[in-house]
Amino acid sequence: MIKNIEDNDNIVESRVKVAFLQSSDCWGCHQSLLNAHLGLLPVLPALEIVYWPCVVDFKYESLEKREDGEILVGFVEGSMRTKQDIEASKLMRRKCQLIIAFGSCSCYGNVHGLANQFSIDDLKNRKFLEVESIADYSNRIPDEHVPSFENKIVPLDNVIKVDAYISGCPPKPEQIISSVLFLLGQKPFPMNVSAFCNECSLNQSGCILDEEKICFGAITSTGCTMKCPENGKACVGCMGPARNVSSKIDKLNKITDDLNSISSGDKKNLYEFLTLFLNIPLMAGFDLAGDILKQIKNKGKVSTPLTNLPSAIEEVTSKLLQYLRDNKNFHEISNVCDTCSRIIGSRSTMTKVKRDYEGLPNLEECLIEQGYICMGPVTNAGCGAMCINVNAPCSGCYGQTKWDVNQSERFADTILKSFNVSISKEELLSQVKDHIGTFEKFTLASNKGYKGGE
Ligand code: SF4
Ligand code: SF4
Ligand code: SF4
Repeated sequence: MIKNIEDNDNIVESRVKVAFLQSSDCWGCHQSLLNAHLGLLPVLPALEIVYWPCVVDFKYESLEKREDGEILVGFVEGSMRTKQDIEASKLMRRKCQLIIAFGSCSCYGNVHGLANQFSIDDLKNRKFLEVESIADYSNRIPDEHVPSFENKIVPLDNVIKVDAYISGCPPKPEQIISSVLFLLGQKPFPMNVSAFCNECSLNQSGCILDEEKICFGAITSTGCTMKCPENGKACVGCMGPARNVSSKIDKLNKITDDLNSISSGDKKNLYEFLTLFLNIPLMAGFDLAGDILKQIKNKGKVSTPLTNLPSAIEEVTSKLLQYLRDNKNFHEISNVCDTCSRIIGSRSTMTKVKRDYEGLPNLEECLIEQGYICMGPVTNAGCGAMCINVNAPCSGCYGQTKWDVNQSERFADTILKSFNVSISKEELLSQVKDHIGTFEKFTLASNKGYKGGE
């Protein structure tokens, strides 16, 4: 394990072997990893990629020839649809010490899982003989060079043991990177000398900390172009630690002394900070927060996992980690709404269900209260409300916050309790055309309660 990216000798000696497998899917998760661009720089020198057929020309036989357990981490993308998917995943399990279900196809079966409502024969007939956009008029179902299909699509953990899950369709690049950094035991390293506060135009007056709200500019490196505080949002540390903290550190310390009384807005910022600054990916199923705390606890004291950082930064981050340890459900109970900046309970009220293409929602109010089906309240946090930020309702790709229950009923009960909705549960559900495609779009293959198509 490497300690610091700047220690080049250490990097060469301690590169860890990783493998990537693509199963039945669209390759978007790998694309998201590549989209990290410069974010890959701290990661790549630490990796020895021994199998990545969709990017590098490694042969399947090369993976078979490796010793069992020789590879440290294996990332498996995609749902299990074909016999080949299943064989290759079992091979990965033998060769890798840790297996990560990479993306919602692998975690939950994803949109492909909707195919479980139909028989294989019906699916083939539809695809090759009936579909309106058919391109091949030979009126035959191909039987050459076609993989053998399993009867049902299942998520990866139905086939092999999975050690951690990175959900999302695709997962955000930052989350993939922070997960990999965490697994490698790599800690954040200081970037520029000066802290963000020193170039923030709110420094002298109107500072967010002066309003007793969290902003991490005092310990975060300069260098970003977003300048969130100037746009009314707290700095959440995406540039990583500064080498020197700013004079505002005392105010940040004062606020973080009592994290139990911070507002829900500050909790959202803390949530983002933990991933972006400390590389703690807080995703359901990926219990890295628990792991990191265990490591710390084993040393007999709560301290930060950071190395070579100013003690002032360690002091702040220690408190955050202590808070995380004391609030074990902090990440488990978080849903997309917890990270969404839209206002709930203001002017608008849902009086009928609108399809996504009806009208143009405003950017300030909750989409549910404007009439749209937004799965935010029942979907695991992690994406930072990515779709809602571009004015599209959440469709649930990070997976449900509760499993094996009737998801239509649960959604309706949840929004009737907590949002401005003036139609009855029966009206609401009758106005949604496709319950499975709306409420279980990404997770049908994982929900044991499902009976359709059996
Ligand atoms: S999770 Fe989404 S992006 Fe990733 S492979 Fe599956 S469909 Fe593609
Ligand atoms: S329901 Fe959607 S728009 Fe409303 S607060 Fe939740 S995530 Fe945001
Ligand atoms: S808002 Fe919902 S659908 Fe969009 S990325 Fe987040 S979890 Fe996925």
